[in-house]
Amino acid sequence: AKSQQRNGHFYFSRSMGIEIRERVRMMHALRKGFLANELFVVYQPQIDLVTRRPTGAEALLRWQTSDGILISPDRFIPIAEYSGLIIEIGEWVLRGACHELVRLRAAGYLDLTMSINVSQVQFRHPLFPVMLCAALEDSKAPPEFIELEITESMAMEEPDQLIEMLAQIKQTGVSIAIDDFGTGFSSLSYLQRLQVDRLKIDRAFVTEITGSARGSSIAEMVIQLGRNLGLSVVAEGVEDERQAAVLQALGCPMAQGFLFARPLTAAALHEWLANDGL
Ligand code: C2E
Ligand code: CA
Ligand code: CA
Ligand code: CA
Repeated sequence: AKSQQRNGHFYFSRSMGIEIRERVRMMHALRKGFLANELFVVYQPQIDLVTRRPTGAEALLRWQTSDGILISPDRFIPIAEYSGLIIEIGEWVLRGACHELVRLRAAGYLDLTMSINVSQVQFRHPLFPVMLCAALEDSKAPPEFIELEITESMAMEEPDQLIEMLAQIKQTGVSIAIDDFGTGFSSLSYLQRLQVDRLKIDRAFVTEITGSARGSSIAEMVIQLGRNLGLSVVAEGVEDERQAAVLQALGCPMAQGFLFARPLTAAALHEWLANDGL
């Protein structure tokens, strides 16, 4: 234990070096993979908890390397953010999702919304509103059916800057959702000042919902908050009927999760919708 302690610093810096090298390696692989069309977007349906009909879909990024390995966005999005590549990749996702919405509408699904995750690195970019406008114009996607998801952690930083950015973005006609809601500590008065339209209850709170009486308290609070502020609410990560039943009883209007559908390729989404979804 003594020698470990003596060498603690050495081990620490060595492992840091490996971590940085690994990150740089992955950064290059991601850039190459992006150019080689190894990235694709899947769509997870969102449903109305009462009617169980689809209301929209969330676009989720995937990376399958040439050797067939699927890398989780939780692993490569931070690398994309760190390298700045997220600006290009994010624009590509946004454009792809807008086009997919247009295709869904052409197939007759005129009520479906398309939710798109936006990284804080993208969102903070001064040209983000310009890029958004261009993507909407080029794709002819109706902005009122497009929703951008930003995380609660992002919503908590630099309030004035965010309020200003949201105001600009809202002018394009798109909606804003706060993702992973309940994991941060944004104050209610601050939330009221933000021009957001929807709250997404984080999966962690949906998982707890059927455990104890206290387990459902955060989900309950978010649903109530949504009702009081006139915001739409979606519960994410719903995996079983018991969770769906509790959420419905609590008055949660919408849900998303493996119980209803996994994230689907564009072709599989069309098939799922054609087969009446559920
Ligand atoms: P998120 O935005 O919170 O997305 C929800 C995640 O939960 C997705 O993981 C989805 O596949 C997963 N999920 C949905 N239903 C269930 C369920 O019933 N059970 C369980 N266990 N999981 C469920 P995924 O696709 O791996 O994405 C992980 C995260 O990566 C996302 O979390 C989001 O933060 C980020 N991400 C994904 N695509 C994009 C993107 O295009 N841009 C940005 N900036 N971030 C993205
Ligand atoms: Ca999301
Ligand atoms: Ca989420
Ligand atoms: Ca998440």
